[in-house]
Amino acid sequence: MTTKYHKIGIIGAMVEEIELLHKHVEKTGSFVKAGIEYVEGTLHGRQVVFCKSGVGKVNAAVCTQLLVDAGVECVLFTGVAGAVDPSLNIGDIVVSTSCMQHDMDVTALGFARGQIPFQDVWEFEAAPDLVELATNAAEKLFPGRSAKGKVLSGDQFVSSRETVKALHDELNGACTEMEGAALAQVCVMNDVPFVVIRSMSDKADGSAHVNFAEFTVQASVNSHSIIDEMIQHM
Ligand code: SAH
Repeated sequence: MTTKYHKIGIIGAMVEEIELLHKHVEKTGSFVKAGIEYVEGTLHGRQVVFCKSGVGKVNAAVCTQLLVDAGVECVLFTGVAGAVDPSLNIGDIVVSTSCMQHDMDVTALGFARGQIPFQDVWEFEAAPDLVELATNAAEKLFPGRSAKGKVLSGDQFVSSRETVKALHDELNGACTEMEGAALAQVCVMNDVPFVVIRSMSDKADGSAHVNFAEFTVQASVNSHSIIDEMIQHM
């Protein structure tokens, strides 16, 4: 098999999201930087480096830059999110076509919602080849239960029907989480391809905290299975 990605970075934010990588990656080494452990090894014969970033955009940004500095040629995110597209159910998969910060709000100065002031780009496009690989994997493993779309990130756990409706109506989001757009921005700044894969742990509504607690493990397993499948075709 020929590949353009010789070293693949994989990030999850929480322990549940990376524990199957700990189980399945044949480890060859590890290093710690900025308090984050990066584990090196192989998965299905492919060279990977994975880590647990911690929750939120700053953690994700630091961790992504350190993975890029460690020489990864693309970055994949595996984890859980709140569904924004009302057709998505718990456990379903979203593959990012793009990522944007929904809490970047300088509208008072005339900028669009989500726009990073004085920047031309604030919706960061995922790599089409990685989107296709992830979508193929999702459709193989979860037929009819995956969607491609915009991932909205913010430093807040969304748990209200009004907020989630606004994220859908105003920003056309597919799901909401707390890391994707930070990873995406750092990847674009470094010209490194990325894709974010999320399985829905909740619907970002009034029941989100209850559903999140109940479904995070299963959704993390679902998301990991996409990574595991797609990596065999990379
Ligand atoms: N582990 C902590 C905090 C979790 S924060 C706890 O259990 O209390 C939620 C995490 O899941 C973030 O990493 C975020 O990316 C994702 N997530 C899932 N549902 C979300 C939602 N409705 N809103 C925002 N982030 C969500």
